[in-house]
Amino acid sequence: MNRKIIFIGIFTLVIIILTSVYLLFNKQSDIQNPLNNDASIKNNVDDSHATNQLNGLNIISAPINNALIRITKKPFGIKISPEQSPIAPERFAGYHTGVDFETYPDEQNQKVKIYAICDGPLVFKQFVSGYGGAAVQQCKIDNNDVTVIYGHLNLSSIADNLNQSIKAESPLGILGQGFSDETDNERKHLHLGIHKGNDIDIRGYVQTQSELEDWIDFATQFK
Ligand SMILES: [Zn+2]
Repeated sequence: MNRKIIFIGIFTLVIIILTSVYLLFNKQSDIQNPLNNDASIKNNVDDSHATNQLNGLNIISAPINNALIRITKKPFGIKISPEQSPIAPERFAGYHTGVDFETYPDEQNQKVKIYAICDGPLVFKQFVSGYGGAAVQQCKIDNNDVTVIYGHLNLSSIADNLNQSIKAESPLGILGQGFSDETDNERKHLHLGIHKGNDIDIRGYVQTQSELEDWIDFATQFK
């Protein structure tokens, strides 16, 4: 009789211990799992936030006020020749590697400000045949290296020195006076080209469509 009671007692004790261990183990798992889930959700949130921030840094801004509505004559990729062009007289031929932002009649004798479209250093600032004053800035768009060509500027209005970093939206200079040396005798307008990679290639036109693939259309990047 005593043995039977002791046996039942021990058996009950073992059951209680096993149940306790089982419950304790489950409780810990419950605690750990939500933590893990929270951690993974948190990581996901952080990742998407980081991606947004990266994209935010790569967004390009307008080089001139009312930018998009000024692209009326030479959009990206238009094929022109002296015989067929929205501009007369025309001295160039080929596929347009940038976009042209036109000026209004009342801006011909006003200072028209040009702004950097992205963050990055100024890597070129010279008088160039075909442009007059030209500047090139190194930037990243969607994490890819690009160089941005700003053509037909008043060269002496560009205050930044070479290798000096320029913030997006900050003033770069003013447009050159139309039909003068400042624009190499072109109408008063901004030519803006975005070339893939870090090489400085300031060509405003290329002769084949496959070469055109080395440039990016500002209008498709600007939101
Ligand atoms: Zn142009």
